[in-house]
Amino acid sequence: MNSESKIKELTELLNQYAYEYYTLDQPSVEDSEYDRLYKELVTLEEENPQLVRSDSPTQRAGDVILSGFEKFQHPYNLYSLGDVFSREELAAWEERVRKELPEPEYICELKIDGLSLSLYYENGVLVTAATRGDGSIGENITENVKRIKDVPLRLTEPVDIVVRGEAYLPRKSFDKLNIERELEGAAPFANPRNAAAGTLRQLDTKVVAKRGLATFLYQEASPATHDTQEEVLEYFEQLGLVVNKERVLARTMDEIWTFIERVTELRDHLPYDIDGVVIKVNNLAQQEELGFTVKAPRWAIAYKFPAEVAETEVLSVEWTV
Ligand code: NAD
Repeated sequence: MNSESKIKELTELLNQYAYEYYTLDQPSVEDSEYDRLYKELVTLEEENPQLVRSDSPTQRAGDVILSGFEKFQHPYNLYSLGDVFSREELAAWEERVRKELPEPEYICELKIDGLSLSLYYENGVLVTAATRGDGSIGENITENVKRIKDVPLRLTEPVDIVVRGEAYLPRKSFDKLNIERELEGAAPFANPRNAAAGTLRQLDTKVVAKRGLATFLYQEASPATHDTQEEVLEYFEQLGLVVNKERVLARTMDEIWTFIERVTELRDHLPYDIDGVVIKVNNLAQQEELGFTVKAPRWAIAYKFPAEVAETEVLSVEWTV
């Protein structure tokens, strides 16, 4: 097959998968398969820039906006993240940062596998909550977010602030939900991430209240109030927002990798799903210096875990012992 037909085929396939994933909340393939095909498309497009199609998923960051909720124009663009899948790729990113910043300090955080949202507080009061959407226009889901128990309706200080984070469904709530759905004859959700997305798009707020969503906030979207990401996270905690405690500061690639190895072991024991580790330059002025590409910040990267070993393989290993 020539590059043009291959690009067309991959574009159509990825758009179909993205529709199933973002709009229907019913993916038909594993994320790792989607990521693999996406990477293949990126490589082909890099080799043949004249063949990039306008409907290519690489030309669009983020998901589709549904009708049913009011659209919401974010005053600050909510960026996605670039991703890497191996130590080598991560080291190459780290080298690039080091070229610009001789002595970088990083903060490594868990990559929560949920749904990105932003919360708008005025005078300390939650006034709006919106999904990321395509990064510029999201959906206004304020009424639903007010039903998430750990989201403070009022902060401890009367500040104007926009915070970004992830809404997720804890594994226990996910299992309970799918048992209920099977009893009702409804199709089970494929994973907690899709269940969280489906829940936040519920038009009946009572359903949202029942399902037990939770949040981790990880970024200030409004202009910086502090010097480092670590200080921002501490400030969030002080304001009453939930912040993930599994994070470390690192100065070298070895230190970053040690954290990734620890998290890899921890992963199955966490009460929520993660799909990787996010590494960010800790100093916010330095983040600004590094800036953004079209789609993602240069000062942060997501390291994604390799695909999980299929259950059948694990079983066969156990049987041969
Ligand atoms: P992403 O999941 O690759 O990463 C970016 C997101 O990470 C951010 O938007 C934010 O929401 C989140 N995040 C979590 N913790 C964070 C932290 N501590 N700091 C910063 N950000 C954090 O990007 P995406 O565009 O949201 O989703 C694309 C992914 O969706 C693909 O890589 C693929 O795995 C999946 N997908 C799967 C299918 C399928 O059919 N299976 C289809 C489409 C997309």
